[in-house]
Amino acid sequence: MMAEKGLVGGLRARPIRATSSTWITTGNVGYGQGHGSANETSDERGGDQLSDQITLVDYLELGDDPHLVANECRACGARFFDRRNACASCGKTEFKRVRIAGDGEVRAFTIVSFAAPGVPVPFVAALVDCDGTSVRANLINVEADPDHVSLGMKVRLATYSLGEDSNGTEAIGFGFEPQEAHDNGK
Ligand SMILES: [Zn+2]
Repeated sequence: MMAEKGLVGGLRARPIRATSSTWITTGNVGYGQGHGSANETSDERGGDQLSDQITLVDYLELGDDPHLVANECRACGARFFDRRNACASCGKTEFKRVRIAGDGEVRAFTIVSFAAPGVPVPFVAALVDCDGTSVRANLINVEADPDHVSLGMKVRLATYSLGEDSNGTEAIGFGFEPQEAHDNGK
């Protein structure tokens, strides 16, 4: 269930895989399900998205102000990042789309040292609390070591390019980066 699986336009997405690592957590954490269909972008857009970009997950919206969008159960308020026919919490079937705050706080993380061949390690898999919504994502633009990552660290949503396929379509992924840079050299 940890894997963000799939080939996107011939590009291998970086899986979040933490099977052999220890999660460092505080309190209760919930998991937003991360399961995206790479070929769809969400609707309700202005239609101004660059046509040569696709998102790695369909709950990432690009544009001038990239952000995540969740499906929120109208009955109980539970939020899901994947598309569901019924709420996993209450069974009701009506959802509305809600924008997720881009600023968050690290609630749990693990430094992943072992991954599938071709996946650069180490990297930091994290659970980020975005104004009450838990988002599972990698931390980016940060050294993957305990000196640079800590619980409660303030982070913000950031997008990055996964590269282009042979048609020139660029795949865009997301992660969270520190709000304040650690200027301890690179
Ligand atoms: Zn519900």
